[in-house]
Amino acid sequence: MDETKFGHRDRREHYIPNKRVGYPPVFVWPVQPINALKWVFSIPGYFMPWNVFYVILGLVAWFWFSPALENFSSPSFETVSLVFLRNAGLVGAYFGAFHLRLYIQRRQDINFKFNPAWPQKDANKFMFGSQTVDNIILTFGSGVTIWTGVEIGILYLAANGFLILVSPIDQPIYFFVMIFTVHLWRDLHFYLVHRLIHCDPLYRLAHNVHHKNTNPGPWSGLAMHPVEHLLYFSCAFIYLLFPFHPAFIVIALVHAGLSPAPGHAGFERVVLQDGRAVDLDCYAHYLHHKYFECNYADGILPLDKWFGTFHDGSADSHKKMLDRLKGNRIKKT
Ligand SMILES: [Zn+2]
Ligand SMILES: [Zn+2]
Repeated sequence: MDETKFGHRDRREHYIPNKRVGYPPVFVWPVQPINALKWVFSIPGYFMPWNVFYVILGLVAWFWFSPALENFSSPSFETVSLVFLRNAGLVGAYFGAFHLRLYIQRRQDINFKFNPAWPQKDANKFMFGSQTVDNIILTFGSGVTIWTGVEIGILYLAANGFLILVSPIDQPIYFFVMIFTVHLWRDLHFYLVHRLIHCDPLYRLAHNVHHKNTNPGPWSGLAMHPVEHLLYFSCAFIYLLFPFHPAFIVIALVHAGLSPAPGHAGFERVVLQDGRAVDLDCYAHYLHHKYFECNYADGILPLDKWFGTFHDGSADSHKKMLDRLKGNRIKKT
């Protein structure tokens, strides 16, 4: 499939999709109940394909690939290792699959790639000079470790009777609502944490590590400073406030741990063998990596629209962003 049907390249050969960044017709005024309902059940929509994919992966991870809850009451080395290896396996397979296809095999070359350049291999700002190596070290050394720590910490509380436990058999509706609203909560939490870490001193201390990736690839997704990882994976702590099931936090952490791979792919679409192309919906966050001060949210809540930091990829939107930044600089001086 040829990218020229979906976008064009500017003078610097950067790919600009024709499709503007947008939001589903849910959080709009005046309300559009029919359109909102249609979107919830359409493909792509609220459930399909991504939300259902991460929920199923989280359920499988908890019910088939986790030690039983009682093992977390006093976690042994074996329990900790099993959880770490499961999380590392998920990250290795998922991020690795995107990287292998798009950046090692280069199956579609730069077709649909926003920035025509490949990841840097001799830049001083990265460990060992390599953007990919730097990102992989941060992903496993800090990201997977902190994810595992948060998971084991919360399951320790559950296993020791500090939380009220529910069962999917006895409370199926509550269980369903909790697992399918993980996505919404994560969108809101990501926005709040992201706004916070764009403020100094947190930006200088932590978030600038993630922003070394001005031309992101899949492994940029979880390439963060440990302080940012701690804030990022803190999305799971909200489940301490509600009647609890371990699947809630495993799904939230799987969603947080894996969704950054397609979100930072650097390509608008992945072209499949049969010629079809899957839209990764990652242009909004790519623009955030390119320009820093726009699109802090990444999902279905139109928070950037509400707070005046939205960039939809158009020239008009770009001008508004430049005017806003100029205004901010004048206010500061
Ligand atoms: Zn990012
Ligand atoms: Zn940022």
